[in-house]
Parts: sequence; C-alpha cells; structure tokens
Amino acid sequence: MSEFLIIGGGINGLLLARELSSTGAEVELVEKGECAREASWAGGGIVSPLYPWRYQASVTKLASWAQDFYPQLARELREETGIDTEFQQCGLLMLDADDEAEALTWAELNSRKIERLDTISLYRRETRLAPGFSSALLMPDVANIRNPRLGKAMVGSLRQRSNVKIREGCEVVDFNCIGEKINSVLVVHSGVLWI
Ligand SMILES: Cc1cc2nc3c(=O)[nH]c(=O)nc-3n(C[C@H](O)[C@H](O)[C@H](O)COP(=O)(O)OP(=O)(O)OC[C@H]3O[C@@H](n4cnc5c(N)ncnc54)[C@H](O)[C@@H]3O)c2cc1C
Repeated sequence: MSEFLIIGGGINGLLLARELSSTGAEVELVEKGECAREASWAGGGIVSPLYPWRYQASVTKLASWAQDFYPQLARELREETGIDTEFQQCGLLMLDADDEAEALTWAELNSRKIERLDTISLYRRETRLAPGFSSALLMPDVANIRNPRLGKAMVGSLRQRSNVKIREGCEVVDFNCIGEKINSVLVVHSGVLWI
C-alpha cells in the first residue's frame, strides 16, 4: 500500500512522483497507456509560457522557478540515466508583438532578460527569416528540451527508485470515497487497487 497514488504518467505526474519519492514517500503511479506519450510527448519543449508577460504574477513566479530549475533537472537525469534530454538555452524570438512596452516593463520588474531588436538587427541575426517583420523581442535565456527524451529519462530514473511503482496500461475508472477521503480506486485490467 503506497502513501501516494498519482493518476496519469505525463510530465506532471512524473515530476510529482519524483518530488514525492525524493522525500522518501512510497509512491504509486498509474497510467492508462504508456507514460509520457500524450501531450507530454507532443509538446514543443519550450521551457516558458509564450508571451509570459500576459499572465498573472503567480504564473510568472511558477514559470520563473521552473526555468531556473530545468538545467539542474536535465543534469540530474543525465547522471541518473545517461539520457541526454537535449536541454539547451537557445533563446526565444517573438516577432512583431503588439505589446512590446508591456513586455519590457514585465522583464525589468521580474528580472527576466528581454531585448528589443529593430528591423536591421533582427534580419542581421536571423538571415533566413521571411521578409515583412519589423521588430522582435529576444528572450535569450529561454530554453528548449526534447520532450520524448525528457519523458524517457524521467521514467528511467523513477524505475530505479525502490519507493516508486509505475503501472502502465491501468486506467482509473472510479473512486470510492468515505466522506471527503478517497478510500479505494478502481483500475481497469488490474482489479481494485486499495489506497
Ligand atoms: C502540440 C503541443 C505543443 C506544446 N508545446 C509546449 C511547449 O513548447 N512548452 C510547454 O511548456 N508546453 C507545451 N505544451 C503543453 C504541454 O505539453 C502540456 O501542458 C503537458 O505535457 C501536460 O502534461 P500532463 O502530465 O498534465 O498531461 P499529459 O501529458 O496529457 O499526461 C496525462 C496522462 O494521464 C493519463 N491518464 C488520463 N486519464 C487517466 C486515467 N483515468 N487513468 C490513468 N491514466 C490516465 C494519460 O494517458 C496521460 O498519459 C504543448 C502541448 C501540445 C499538445
């Protein structure tokens, strides 16, 4: 019997399993298909919201924390599994954003780097860019990661932990609650899983 049951083995479930199991907790993760195949496989791997200045302060706080954490995560996963997640700080270029002033103010307030490129500097930097753009915002610190590799490394690392059980091919179809507490979870193919 595990202390924590995580339903869904996408990047969120896998990261949660990593964090919880790092505290020594017993964790069980159930995934109806294969881990890290759905949105977490398809994602472009940009380690930032698009137009981050358009979100609430709480999103900025969370995203900034994650951006600072990802280099360490990529390093640890490589050490633990030998898998290179292809994490790289390649920068992000936003073309002709119509709220450049807001973006620059947001960057200053939140200590994130944004540089405005005028037409000449933009085309000097991106020589193969299609014509017609007049300016861009460059976020040099934004990174990219290769999602399928990240997922594979996350699963590989969790499988090495004796306090983590991963069950793929198990779909949670129902909960049984006593009051507000979940008492049992019905999983297709695996019968009843008691928590
Ligand atoms: C085309 C595309 C591009 C994207 N690009 C980016 C990007 O560049 N940067 C970025 O930050 N985000 C991007 N995203 C968003 C990002 O991929 C998702 O926010 C993220 O992957 C969500 O992870 P998740 O773990 O919540 O969901 P998922 O990866 O969908 O995982 C959920 C898992 O739960 C399982 N599941 C569901 N129901 C049950 C059940 N009843 N029982 C058991 N298992 C169940 C599913 O099978 C699935 O594996 C993109 C998304 C898409 C689709």
